[in-house]
Formats: sequence, structure tokens, C-alpha cells
Amino acid sequence: MSNYDYLIVGSGLFGSVMAHELKKKKKKILVIEKRAQPGGNIYCEKIEDINVHTYGAHIFHTNNKEVWDFVNSFVSFNNYINSPIANYKGKFYNLPFNMNTFYSLWGVTSPQAAREMIKKQQGEAGIHKSENLEEQAISLVGRDIYETLIKGYTEKQWGRKCTDLPPFIIKRLPVRFTFDNNYFNDRYQGIPIGGYNTLTEKLLTGIETLTNTDFFKDRTYFQSIAKNIIFTGRIDEFYNYEFGKLEYRSLKFETEILDCENYQGNAVINFTDYNTPYTRIIEHKHFEFGTQAKTVISREYPAEWREGTEPFYPINDKANDELHKRYYELTLKEKNVMFGGRLAEYKYYDMDKVIEIALSKAEQLHAKN
Ligand SMILES: Cc1cc2nc3c(=O)[nH]c(=O)nc-3n(C[C@H](O)[C@H](O)[C@H](O)COP(=O)(O)OP(=O)(O)OC[C@H]3O[C@@H](n4cnc5c(N)ncnc54)[C@H](O)[C@@H]3O)c2cc1C
Repeated sequence: MSNYDYLIVGSGLFGSVMAHELKKKKKKILVIEKRAQPGGNIYCEKIEDINVHTYGAHIFHTNNKEVWDFVNSFVSFNNYINSPIANYKGKFYNLPFNMNTFYSLWGVTSPQAAREMIKKQQGEAGIHKSENLEEQAISLVGRDIYETLIKGYTEKQWGRKCTDLPPFIIKRLPVRFTFDNNYFNDRYQGIPIGGYNTLTEKLLTGIETLTNTDFFKDRTYFQSIAKNIIFTGRIDEFYNYEFGKLEYRSLKFETEILDCENYQGNAVINFTDYNTPYTRIIEHKHFEFGTQAKTVISREYPAEWREGTEPFYPINDKANDELHKRYYELTLKEKNVMFGGRLAEYKYYDMDKVIEIALSKAEQLHAKN
């Protein structure tokens, strides 16, 4: 017997936005979440009264006014602007690559001098067709920026040499010839005031939600209680890995409470040399301009993904994309199951994109049913 119109597997942004939109259309919904708390990757744990981004630093940014208005209808956003700093062997550089970076690297003080420097280095490299990531990066921004700010970070992040990585990973590298350290070009940006959990709580208000509940622990039962399923978990798992497992990169976080008010003076510092084993240190309080007596930092270590660790970044190389395509073809045959979100689509999506897609899919479902 179907008790629910929709069973939503996963309470990340995709599942929560779908749940909210379908509830508005008077549908009866059950959300199940295998973790101990809802929210997926945007969940934050409160430590020392600081919102700690448990699954990696999340900064909301979008150009989409509809999405911005949507999230602001639940929670107001602060005016945090992401301006990460790169630490290369103890020297600091501003990111994204801009006039401040070029000044620190070369002492140049005009956009024209910076352009000439990059052009000179591109010419010296003499690369006509990039065969790997290293050549691609040097042909885009020259050898100095590549070696100081890209090489070590990228090799740590992917666990492979830049000469063994495909060039397509960096199609473009944003270079700015102004003194502007704002990482994003989007019109709207910020962190929810009070943290991301407020957004999740508001989205799921009035919706039956079971945490610590894994769909695969009792699949037959869960399939029997709802007319339709919205699945936001791993697509290969849904099909019992029948074609094989999709691969991911993972991260390990080493989180520490420090007995000081301000540890590094910025929310995000990237360590771009190869020998520092972590890629970033996040000081969480700075996302919300915190003034607490203590601070909490997380060192971020890239890691190979294996079963039991978090599948963070899909590896969209040829083999994995082809594998995903085979699973995707199976989804087309499903009548009452809809797939969405980063794990089901095996795609990296920023939060705004996930919300945009969920809003539009909810509209389509409503039109259909
Ligand atoms: C390290 C990192 C940093 C990021 N930073 C940013 C950023 O700064 N800005 C930005 O816009 N985006 C960022 N993102 C992207 C953002 O996390 C995603 O856009 C968003 O989380 C996607 O939501 P989702 O619902 O698709 O997936 P998720 O948030 O992963 O939610 C899926 C949920 O489904 C649950 N689930 C899976 N399988 C089952 C099952 N079998 N049964 C029950 N529940 C299940 C999972 O536990 C999870 O809670 C970042 C991503 C990562 C990995």
C-alpha cells in the first residue's frame, strides 16, 4: 500500500528543495536520510558556538535571481565575500589571480606590465597544443603562476602529477587585471545568517524526515510505501553496481579547536606547495565574522576515495563518464523513480545549480502528476 506520494532518498539540497516544493503542492512526502542529520553536504556542526562546515567549506554564490530570492525567502545571507589567500612556502598571494597576485609575484604595478609578463612566459613555453594539465596551465598563465600557485595544489588534490592529468581539467583559468580579490564573479554571494542548518530546517519544516535511515537497508519496504521515488544517492549503488563502481576523489578533515581568537585572519588559506600535505586550512568563524573567544580550524587533506569514505568529487574522465552513461540509460526505463543531485547525476554542481534544477524538476513533476 502506498502511504506517500513521494519517498525522497537523501536530505541534501536537492532532496530538501524537492520536498519543500512538492509539499507546497499538497503531496504527501517522506524524506529518508542515512546520516544522523539532514542537510547533506551543507550540514554544519556547532563547535565553540561556531558553525563548522563538516563536509567542506560552502560559500553560496549565484547569478540566478530566482535562486537567490528562493534561498532568501528562508534565511537572510550575510555579506561574506570569498577572498582566499595562497600560501606558497610561507609567502602570501591573493586569489583569484589578479593585480595583487602579480604585484607579489613580479612587483609589476600596471595591468599592462602584468599582461606583458604573462605573454612573455607563454611565448617562452612555446606550447601549441597542450597534451596535459601542466602544458595547458602554462599556455594559459605562464610558468611562474603555474609553479607557484597551481602545480603543487593540483597534484595534491588529484593525487597525480600535472603531466599525467588531462588538459581538460582546466579549460580556463580566471585572470583579472584589476586589484579585485573577490573569488567569484557572481552577482549574489554570502553565508546564511545563523548557518546552513537554518536553511535545511526551514526547507524541511512540516515534512516527515527520518535520519539514520538507509534506503538500501530495506529497499523492498521503502519501494512499497510510496507511489514515486526521488533518489539523490549514488546511481551505481541504486543499480547494485551492475556495471562497476563509479570513482570519486575524497577529502579528510582534521578539525581542531584553538585557544586563540583569530588563527589565520581569513576563512580560506590554500597551501599551494607540494610538501605541505593539506591543500587548505579553513577557519570557520570568518565566514560569519565571528568574535568568539576560541576558533576552530579544519585542515583539508585530499584522499583517494574508497568505500566507507565520502564520495566528494566525481572523476569525470572518459572511463567514468562512459560508465555513468550506462547507468543513466537504465534510469530512462524507470517509471516511478526520478534521479537528481550530485551523486545520482555523477556531476559536480554548485549549490545554486542544484537548487535551480530541483525547482525546475519539481515544477515538471507537478505538471505531470
Ligand atoms: C568539499 C566540497 C565543497 C563544496 N563547496 C561549495 C561551495 O563553496 N559553494 C557551492 O555552491 N557548492 C559547493 N559544493 C557543492 C555542494 O556541496 C553541492 O552542490 C550540494 O551539496 C549538492 O546537494 P545534493 O542534495 O545533490 O547532494 P548531498 O548534499 O550530497 O546530499 C545527498 C544526501 O543523500 C544522502 N544519501 C545518499 N545515499 C542515501 C541512501 N542510500 N539512503 C538515505 N540517504 C542517502 C546522503 O547522506 C546525503 O545527505 C561543495 C562540494 C564539496 C564536496
